[in-house]
Amino acid sequence: MKNFASLNEIHESIKSGSVSCQSIVNYYLNRIDKHKDLNVYVEVFAEEALLRAKNIDEKIFAGTAGRLAGMVVAIKDNLCFKGHRLSAASKILEGFESLYSATVVERLLKEDAIIIGRVNCDEFAMGSANETSYYGAVKNPKNPKKVSGGSSGGSAAAVAADLCQVALGSDTGGSIRQPAAFCGVVGLKPTYSRVSRYGLIAYASSFDQIGPITKSIEDAALVTEIISGKDPNDSTSSSVKVEPFNIVLPSEKKKITYLKEYLESPGLDPEIKEKFLDLISELKAQGHVVEEQTFSYLDVIVPSYYVLTTAEASSNLARFDGVHFGYRSSNAKDLESTYKLSRTEGFGEEVKRRIMLGTFVLSSGYYDAYYTKAQRVRRLIQDRTTALLKDYDFILMPTTPTTAFDIGVKNEDPTVAYLEDIYTVHANLAGTPAISLPLWVSSKNMPIGVQLMGAAFKEAELLNFSKLLMLSRN
Ligand code: GLN
Repeated sequence: MKNFASLNEIHESIKSGSVSCQSIVNYYLNRIDKHKDLNVYVEVFAEEALLRAKNIDEKIFAGTAGRLAGMVVAIKDNLCFKGHRLSAASKILEGFESLYSATVVERLLKEDAIIIGRVNCDEFAMGSANETSYYGAVKNPKNPKKVSGGSSGGSAAAVAADLCQVALGSDTGGSIRQPAAFCGVVGLKPTYSRVSRYGLIAYASSFDQIGPITKSIEDAALVTEIISGKDPNDSTSSSVKVEPFNIVLPSEKKKITYLKEYLESPGLDPEIKEKFLDLISELKAQGHVVEEQTFSYLDVIVPSYYVLTTAEASSNLARFDGVHFGYRSSNAKDLESTYKLSRTEGFGEEVKRRIMLGTFVLSSGYYDAYYTKAQRVRRLIQDRTTALLKDYDFILMPTTPTTAFDIGVKNEDPTVAYLEDIYTVHANLAGTPAISLPLWVSSKNMPIGVQLMGAAFKEAELLNFSKLLMLSRN
């Protein structure tokens, strides 16, 4: 069986009779087994996936199958799937089983997708290298000495190594786009509120969004369309109508901007910068208007992101107390020591660091100096971004300052790791949709992503222009 580039290809093969859902699931189960060393899957739902495949094959035969029939999906280990374990890659959720399914999971199943397993990620989605996971780092399929990125490292590696057709990830500050860039696949973070967060383990609720990691723009479009839309279970989900995301190459020329400070950032790898500048020249040559603009908040973008998200996380993670879910310390003697010891033993270092930081920035003596100030900065970033997206169709930027780094090198100093997020947190602070496209490969053979950001709820435009960029890659 071949590595299918998109669901369309799978549907053609099913029609021609050369494959069935069952043979596709078997193909992935074999590959997952063969590539165990990458440490991608936390759990594989083998029997269940095969049974479902058989059922969907019958539906295809009867002409009653849903739009995602034949699509094998991996889900990040922070998305609820009823009756299945869920851990957010943390010891504190040891043994926990979901009591209901996330809305995104329900919507995929309704269209006959097959969920083949849950994949590794950073603990509670906090990280940029998948190294904070209780299960250990995910290796990059392009070079197993390198990280896969994070926090949806398992999702990106699963797609890149062809261990599933599509994976779901979550993106609070880049966790879909950054690993997609590191592994050489497509990753889309939809507009904040476009996709219901019901059943996603919360990290920072005003930032979190669920989105797809795929091999093709078409699959990203289809999955996003299906998981988008109002959900009564998530009051923050938007009721803006979801139009079909059919990929149509834009015929008119676009207005695009890129940000001066982003290209001048000292951490940006010169090779990535060179490729980025080449792309700008190419787009201009194609007749698009591409102009430089300034964005004076680059220096405060990462600090404000970390103040706000840790504040939200310290509140969201209060529920993991050794009483309600998962792990409880066996050394506890009373209620207080149950809380203390379960949390001390159950959470990893990075999660504890963030809970403490978040509690600090929210404490009465420091609230105004940190939290209120970061909220104000967020507002300024949102206003400037909205203004730019009034004048331009898209903002173009690198996804990451570097290609995937070696496993182990960036986990000493957290502030070094936090700078990995310099180009991705912008879209989460602003709430805008953004996509990472695997346009290039470095001289060392590692993937490089480019990031395209659009105005709120303009996913269709973003995807159509992404298709054009992907075509220019060859
Ligand atoms: N790397 C960022 C962080 O650690 C982003 C994580 C995410 O998007 N979930 O917060």
